[in-house]
Amino acid sequence: MAHKSILVVGGGVSGLTAAIEASEAGSEVYLVEQKSYLGGRVAQMNQYFPKLCPPNCGLEINFKRIKQNPRIKFFTLAEIEKIDGVEGDYTVTVKSNPRYVNQNCTACGKCSEVCPAQRSNEFNYGMDKTQAIYKAHEFAFPMKYVIDDQACLGAECGKCVAACQYGAIELDMSAKSFNLNVGAIVWATGWQPYDAKKVDYYGYGKHENVITNVIMERLAASNGPTAGKIVRPSDGKEVKSVAFVQCAGSRDENHLPYCSGVCCMASLKQATYVKAMNSDSKVYMFYIDVRAMGKHEDFYTKVQDDITMIKGKVGEISEDPVTKDLIVQVENQLTGEIMKETVDMVVLATGMVPATSNVPDAIAYDEDGFVVSNPQQLGIYGAGCVKKPLDVSSSVKDSTSAALKAIQSTVRR
Ligand SMILES: Cc1cc2nc3c(=O)[nH]c(=O)nc-3n(C[C@H](O)[C@H](O)[C@H](O)COP(=O)(O)OP(=O)(O)OC[C@H]3O[C@@H](n4cnc5c(N)ncnc54)[C@H](O)[C@@H]3O)c2cc1C
Repeated sequence: MAHKSILVVGGGVSGLTAAIEASEAGSEVYLVEQKSYLGGRVAQMNQYFPKLCPPNCGLEINFKRIKQNPRIKFFTLAEIEKIDGVEGDYTVTVKSNPRYVNQNCTACGKCSEVCPAQRSNEFNYGMDKTQAIYKAHEFAFPMKYVIDDQACLGAECGKCVAACQYGAIELDMSAKSFNLNVGAIVWATGWQPYDAKKVDYYGYGKHENVITNVIMERLAASNGPTAGKIVRPSDGKEVKSVAFVQCAGSRDENHLPYCSGVCCMASLKQATYVKAMNSDSKVYMFYIDVRAMGKHEDFYTKVQDDITMIKGKVGEISEDPVTKDLIVQVENQLTGEIMKETVDMVVLATGMVPATSNVPDAIAYDEDGFVVSNPQQLGIYGAGCVKKPLDVSSSVKDSTSAALKAIQSTVRR
């Protein structure tokens, strides 16, 4: 008999959408997320284009739909070990990693107050630290603390256990594997930022004030490492001039041969963060051509009036060793002039890389790592940015269609 359940892997906006849509249509859904919280990269944004609302607006509605829906069962801190079977009858082995914190957690934070150990905070791309027992972020769902076992001092310390009046901390939790039987699988593991260090002529990792677009989201966020102040990493000074360098590694055969489609809009959005902080600040955007598709054209037209747009691929970024200011060198394609602009900070618009490293054999992907349909494995569907670079609204549409295909796989056999 065919299994009617659907497995969704990845709890970003794409996986959430596929899981919610399939379950609201009547399917039993298992949602597996590797991190300790749901929401994916969108949870790390400051605002969404084009409306510039905080990510929590959209995510909270999805979390509410999950809470109200008994047909969705979700597992955080979990990953897929193996996929066996055929469309309509898959057996999937899931490894559930320990949170070391149980359902009794009220997120009061007393455990963190007494924790003596620290870890680098990957939610803020390593710009600050948390205690070894931590809440992933202010709006984390589920709202539960988690222990980083690489940083925790273990039972010998035990201060968090003593501080927790709810008996929520279990330092002896361990990883467990279990099987799920499902009829179809939606693979929605999303994207990672391209490693800007590989574009060495832009100096990321060498010049302190060269940052990336994902880091800019955290700098501008009120729950970020600087409480929303966009300041220079080198000296904490307010930023008065910024250069956005487009296609930092994208559309380049030596790096990512494709366009990620969202980086121009992301930089235009981030220009509004800088302008909102200080309307006198000078903002440059160096671009090959601006890709603001469909209705995004309005946003582009509006923002470009406030900033200096220069058509040209930046050749090199150097640093003044004393002031740590950055000198951006570019040939202006419209005038032929070689320009050198000195700015406080540079934001590299790096592209999106599909999160398909270490995936089970059943998942097929192309030479760039994007998930494609596998004729040998019917009933497995990619959704969202793991399939192609997309903005949120297109990811939602793509995942709704993946949910429909998954439902078809569970009913036609
Ligand atoms: C700088 C920047 C700014 C952006 N700003 C905007 C914006 O303002 N507006 C907009 O519309 N779009 C924006 N985007 C695009 C937006 O981030 C994506 O559309 C969105 O993140 C796609 O969601 P997703 O679920 O496909 O992927 P993700 O958000 O990456 O979610 C994937 C999830 O899968 C999990 N996962 C990964 N691997 C595994 C695994 N093996 N097992 C289990 N779980 C796994 C991850 O932990 C994550 O939770 C921006 C993109 C960039 C680069």
